[in-house]
Amino acid sequence: MINTIKKAQITHELSQQEIIDILQNDECNNELFSAADNVRCQFVGDDIHLRALIEFSNICKNNCLYCGLRRDNKNITRYRIDIDTIFELAQHAAKNMGLKTIVLQSGEDVHFTKEKMCKIIRQIKTLNVALTLSIGEKSLEEYQAYRQAGADRFLLRIETTDQDLYHYLDPKMSWQNRKQCLLNLRQAGLEVGSGIMVGLPNQTIESIANDILFFKEIDADMIGIGPFIPHPDTPLKNEKGGNLIMSLKVMALTRLLLPDINIPATTAMETLAANGQMMALQSGANVIMPNVTLSQYRKNYELYPGKSNTNCTPDDTLLLLRNKISSIGRKIADDYGFHKKQI
Ligand code: SAM
Ligand code: SF4
Repeated sequence: MINTIKKAQITHELSQQEIIDILQNDECNNELFSAADNVRCQFVGDDIHLRALIEFSNICKNNCLYCGLRRDNKNITRYRIDIDTIFELAQHAAKNMGLKTIVLQSGEDVHFTKEKMCKIIRQIKTLNVALTLSIGEKSLEEYQAYRQAGADRFLLRIETTDQDLYHYLDPKMSWQNRKQCLLNLRQAGLEVGSGIMVGLPNQTIESIANDILFFKEIDADMIGIGPFIPHPDTPLKNEKGGNLIMSLKVMALTRLLLPDINIPATTAMETLAANGQMMALQSGANVIMPNVTLSQYRKNYELYPGKSNTNCTPDDTLLLLRNKISSIGRKIADDYGFHKKQI
């Protein structure tokens, strides 16, 4: 096992079976995490990129079985932040907090038409920031319009490459279409971020190994991996959910195989353990997305329970992060943190 990890560290290649062996066996976890940490240091350095996350609408036309924002969940208060307020939040993050990337995330909310999104994008780009969108499946033409308006990156998790599982989890959605969206994002000239949840019901180790190989196949610029955390107001409320160690292992393997990409230490990891994100930063991750949405909205963007640390203001969150980051001997980047391809 140690030899396989060493091989991955040098060649950045593993077979499906080799990935399965590492995921199934916990004896070499420390070696895996430290190999991923070394590869991270070698390819993307010690800097941590902070991306300011604005959750601007929790309204969604989809009904994904796992998500607290799903259309049929009547137990949340729905909100949409108006365009001026979105800009003010972005301005605060850029000017007062010094953050270099703004991430706009939402449910699939039809209110935000292509024209409205382009208007928001153009406005935010006057702040000299990089801009990431995470707003779901759109047409190639829409992705091209966002790019033209100034958007730089787009996050769209494939969730799982097991198509049967995907179709069970995301009723009326098509896995092929989601994959096509990822190809269209690339064609539109946006940096492509994807990822999966770990610990979905009936998710196999084999399919997770395929997920990691899929990240390589689509030549991803960013990969976010988080444990699935069951939400009490969804059909999956009684499922077990994912665990931190398995999520970290999937993330570490992703770093070994895609050494120069951006990998966030995800909020879902921090939800499972108070030091989850710091563990991730020491096992291959190099990005954190602090939430800068006001707490009055944040408490209703509950994808899973325990997600929103609503007592913290955006400024408090940043201060806390700065301290944690310096405590592990790392520093916050002062550039935009684009994917610099090295292999
Ligand atoms: N609506 C857009 C989409 O689905 O691509 C963007 C926002 S969506 C809420 C962002 C991500 O949250 C999803 O891609 C999914 O992986 C994650 N997510 C949703 N429900 C979750 C849960 N119960 N546990 C962990 N992650 C979850
Ligand atoms: Fe909507 Fe995204 Fe949640 Fe699915 S994961 S219900 S598309 S917000």
